[in-house]
Amino acid sequence: MADPHPSPRYTAEQALERLKAGNERFLAGKAKFPTVQKEVLADLAKGQAPYATILGCSDSRVPPELVFDAGFGELFIIRVAGNVLGPTIAGTLQYAGNHLHTPLFVVMGHEGCGAVQAALANKFEDAEHDRHIEILLANIEPALANLDPTLPPEQLMQAAVEANVRWAVRQVRESPEGRLALADGDLRLVGAIYEIESGRVRFLDD
Ligand SMILES: [Zn+2]
Repeated sequence: MADPHPSPRYTAEQALERLKAGNERFLAGKAKFPTVQKEVLADLAKGQAPYATILGCSDSRVPPELVFDAGFGELFIIRVAGNVLGPTIAGTLQYAGNHLHTPLFVVMGHEGCGAVQAALANKFEDAEHDRHIEILLANIEPALANLDPTLPPEQLMQAAVEANVRWAVRQVRESPEGRLALADGDLRLVGAIYEIESGRVRFLDD
């Protein structure tokens, strides 16, 4: 059965430009955050064709649709504390790639991430957390391997947030499925950091 693609498709480049333009509107206070029209809902009921898949943090201060000034049906979003990868997350990404064919994948971390902070405390201060939180933090721990613990706390935190995004990107990129998907040059996977105070999304270089 063919997957329905009711809206126009975008290339990965175009998708990334749309995210950047949306974040600019958001920053400029010119967001067009939609009051969704009945016709749009009716159209979307036929199927979805989001132009980007975003793995972001559950943090209430980082809602991707608002940050990118995107409407219904535009973004396929996974939110989990610390934007960590795990088996069910990987499955969701695979669904987005193989069935929704979003051309762009973004792992978006953010400044002041509590999950990253907790993982840092685990690693450098022997902090202890509840069992399920420990499981979550174990997904972040490998990202922190090369950090310099003597950095000032704020810098250490910044470095940890970025390392955690890069770690998730690398895990996707180096998985057999990710390798295969990205080998077809139309697909892009990028990391990004949301700056919590300014509202700006900084896309990371590969
Ligand atoms: Zn967070």
